[in-house]
Amino acid sequence: MRIVFLGAPGSGKGTQAQKLMADFGMPQVSTGDLLRAAVAAGTELGQRAQAAMDSGDLVTDDIVLGIIAERLTEEDCANGFILDGYPRNIQQAEDLQPVLADIGQQLDAAVLLDVEMDILMQRLTGRRTCSKTGKLLNIYFSSKEELDECVNNGGELIQRADDNEETIANRLNIYREQTEPLIGFYQEAGVLKTVVGEGDIEAIYTQLKAALELS
Ligand code: AMP
Repeated sequence: MRIVFLGAPGSGKGTQAQKLMADFGMPQVSTGDLLRAAVAAGTELGQRAQAAMDSGDLVTDDIVLGIIAERLTEEDCANGFILDGYPRNIQQAEDLQPVLADIGQQLDAAVLLDVEMDILMQRLTGRRTCSKTGKLLNIYFSSKEELDECVNNGGELIQRADDNEETIANRLNIYREQTEPLIGFYQEAGVLKTVVGEGDIEAIYTQLKAALELS
């Protein structure tokens, strides 16, 4: 399947994409992860992207288009993928169409993970990644066992540089202004599926699989 995940920062796109990847083998293609890797590696592209990322603004459409076009032609994407964090505005959704046409693919679904704004803030400020496993955790919502497991295995709970309150507020505003219009875009295309992204991660995952008719 070729899936786009829509949803605000903190709506659980990454968490749910990781679960689909583990169960069904579809690679999670996250422009945020690819950009953070470019910044960490100090590439020219990373340097061009860093200022926008630090302030929570969107990186320019041409930079992310280049990244995504290259990633989607890699072999592991041939049988499907989950786009997590791309497209983020109407221009990017339009840019994606010729990229998919070039590789002879089309989108099967755009899934909106729908979460109230006040919950998003808590999820984002509490979000941590285990440095050892890459697992996404949350100091408010993950169990003590899960958090301890990371640390006891020699990992660290890392907070993303852009998960601070000021940057989060900007990212949520940008989501409302630029990304939310994609809901209508994909509804018109007839591929939109909405899943309420609140509550237990496993229960959300069950709803997600039902919406995608996966079992
Ligand atoms: P994310 O991990 O998806 O929350 O993305 C982190 C940051 O990377 C965003 O705040 C943007 O600065 C940048 N970014 C990720 N994906 C995109 C995209 N599709 N278009 C523009 N900027 C992006």
